[in-house]
Amino acid sequence: MSSVEIPGAAQNPCISCGACCARFRVSFYWGEADDAPGGIVPAALTEQLTPLRRAMRGTNPPQRCVALQGELGQCVGCSIYEQRPTPCREFEMWEPDGSVNPRCNEARAGIGLPPLAARTVAGSTA
Ligand code: SF4
Ligand code: SF4
Repeated sequence: MSSVEIPGAAQNPCISCGACCARFRVSFYWGEADDAPGGIVPAALTEQLTPLRRAMRGTNPPQRCVALQGELGQCVGCSIYEQRPTPCREFEMWEPDGSVNPRCNEARAGIGLPPLAARTVAGSTA
């Protein structure tokens, strides 16, 4: 079986994953969408949840965010990376102490990827 080298994948596991974009509902304050003053998330890629909240299309229920490009677990990218909503910006692989965000590994397991390991953080015992 041949393998494909994905540039940057070793430094950033997300490039060869994308599981969280297909696992969780991505909801956020409606004013983040670009049909509100100062909003940046493309409104056309969202759906209204409540009068005050929207979700990325494809994540309610969670299937696959409409903005996700590529093949899950192989090579993926966010087509609106610079305009992605707050939950996406705040979702981290690792906690400040270097332990893995359990939701990250939960999502990875859901598409058959191995868990990430904790990373060493200066001054931490995690
Ligand atoms: S599940 Fe974790 S490793 Fe995969 S794309 Fe999301 S944050 Fe990155
Ligand atoms: S907006 Fe981008 S980062 Fe957020 S769930 Fe969709 S594809 Fe993933």
